[in-house]
Amino acid sequence: MTRIFNFSAGPAVLPQEVLKQAQEEMLDWRGSGMAVMEMSHRGPEYMAIQAAAEKDLRELLAIPANYKVLFLQGGATTQFAAIPMNLLRGKTTADYVNTGEWAKKAIKEAKLQCKVNIAASSEDKNFSYVPPQSVWQVSKDAAYVHVCTNETIGGVEFNWIPDTGDVPLVADMSSHLLSRPIDVGRYGLIYAGAQKNIGPAGLAIVIVRDDLLGQTLPGTPTMLDYKVQAEHESMFNTPPTYSIYIAGLTFQWLKRGGGLTAMEKHNIAKARLIYDLVDGGDFYRSPVAKFDRSRMNIPFTLHDEKLDDAFLNEAKQQGLIQLKGHRSVGGMRASIYNAMPLAGVTTLVDFMRDFEAKHR
Ligand code: PMP
Repeated sequence: MTRIFNFSAGPAVLPQEVLKQAQEEMLDWRGSGMAVMEMSHRGPEYMAIQAAAEKDLRELLAIPANYKVLFLQGGATTQFAAIPMNLLRGKTTADYVNTGEWAKKAIKEAKLQCKVNIAASSEDKNFSYVPPQSVWQVSKDAAYVHVCTNETIGGVEFNWIPDTGDVPLVADMSSHLLSRPIDVGRYGLIYAGAQKNIGPAGLAIVIVRDDLLGQTLPGTPTMLDYKVQAEHESMFNTPPTYSIYIAGLTFQWLKRGGGLTAMEKHNIAKARLIYDLVDGGDFYRSPVAKFDRSRMNIPFTLHDEKLDDAFLNEAKQQGLIQLKGHRSVGGMRASIYNAMPLAGVTTLVDFMRDFEAKHR
């Protein structure tokens, strides 16, 4: 068996230990004689799996008791619509900070439900930074303020928490949830698609303060009503059982490794290796303002874009794949989620050094 180093933005690398455990438990989950995906979601075995997943996630993120944890379907994109439906609570305006491609998608979807005020935008500099809160222009009557705390395409990350007072702060953390400790209590709602740091695509996790629930827009589909989902413990219909099981294994893997503080250290060290190399010369360049650079998604360009194809081909020969940047940004992008081992990053950095020496 050969495992390559996969720098995909998502679906992305998962911990090998998790995949191996899933393989070992595939045909007979712990003496049950069944695969997890064959289990009734109402049976004791599966109920225990989901309860453990929630308990472990609560522990990892120190989620306060007045927050619900929901395991939902439709990825993060479905939440773009569900969030205004659930959180407008009789209001008609929501504030959004526009930091890039994913914020834009959330804004577009919210506009189907309400008036959107763009409180701040970094479009003036091609989404290469996070607008500081001092320039935000929030509306007086916003139902919530929405941010995308890690722009997967642009590689821009909030490393601070906005202070929105009594207005609930809502955050799309799809591409960095579980990469660092967070103060959940500062947010009204946190959500994330699973396919980066958590598990299989399709699953979305929503963490929401319970007093925000129960005032959905008329006409909200039952499946999108967070209160209904919370009352049914994410089992209003058949939940994505196998995805939740894999997410649970990932949570256990994180706990065994020392939790999110340990993971954050590891992620800082990995990201630094790449940024130091990029900043250390003029062959590579980062388009992102230093203070706002993501630890998870690292876009960079080559000084001569005519070398891009050679870079990608030679990288692939070294077992380094999915380094092509998103078409809206160009260049390269290395996504180095929790499960990307240090060896993957050092191999990449060594390759980048060799490539520079050969082509400069
Ligand atoms: N938000 C962010 C920040 C993302 O990176 C993604 C997916 N790449 C999404 C939302 C959409 O997630 P999904 O495809 O699970 O709907």
